[in-house]
Amino acid sequence: MLKQVKVEVTARHIHLSRKDLDKLFGKGFELSFFKDLSQPGQFASNEKVSIVSKDGRIDNVRILGPVRSESQIEISQTDARFLKISAPLRLSGDLDGSSPIKLIGPNGFVDLEKGVIVSKRHFHCTPETSMELNLKNGDIVKVKVGEDGLRGLIFDNIEVRISDKFSDAIHIDTDEGNACSIGGICSIGEILN
Ligand SMILES: [Zn+2]
Repeated sequence: MLKQVKVEVTARHIHLSRKDLDKLFGKGFELSFFKDLSQPGQFASNEKVSIVSKDGRIDNVRILGPVRSESQIEISQTDARFLKISAPLRLSGDLDGSSPIKLIGPNGFVDLEKGVIVSKRHFHCTPETSMELNLKNGDIVKVKVGEDGLRGLIFDNIEVRISDKFSDAIHIDTDEGNACSIGGICSIGEILN
């Protein structure tokens, strides 16, 4: 199997529930559109909040829309160290036992009992590509990135997620992007297995 696929570096961000968006920005507040993301229907908003732990604070963390059923904060291991919290490595939506955090917005704050994760690297895969590559949901692939630079590397343990709501893209976080010097840039990777 060998296939070129887009690799995107995901910066720290927040997904909010309707309830938490109301508390942070005011009842009935709607997120305003900043830019589209690669996954259809998902967008970056103009709105930002602060994430606050007992020992640290990170301001200007962007909210992604649309609202979700549960609030979720995706940070890097570096951020977790800075905040002195331990955030588990999880796929999006898998929040049981994830870390608590305080969010502060322009209209108020929320103390979440859970919701902070470090995103497990993953492959948003369309059904067409999954058939072409003979992959099923939950499979693990390896991808080679950055080989044109001096810090090219191979990421293992990339979990395949298949949905007709996706477009093909591998998501890694800023620590992983920095490790192969593709931070901030959309790059092309090669699936190896
Ligand atoms: Zn993703």
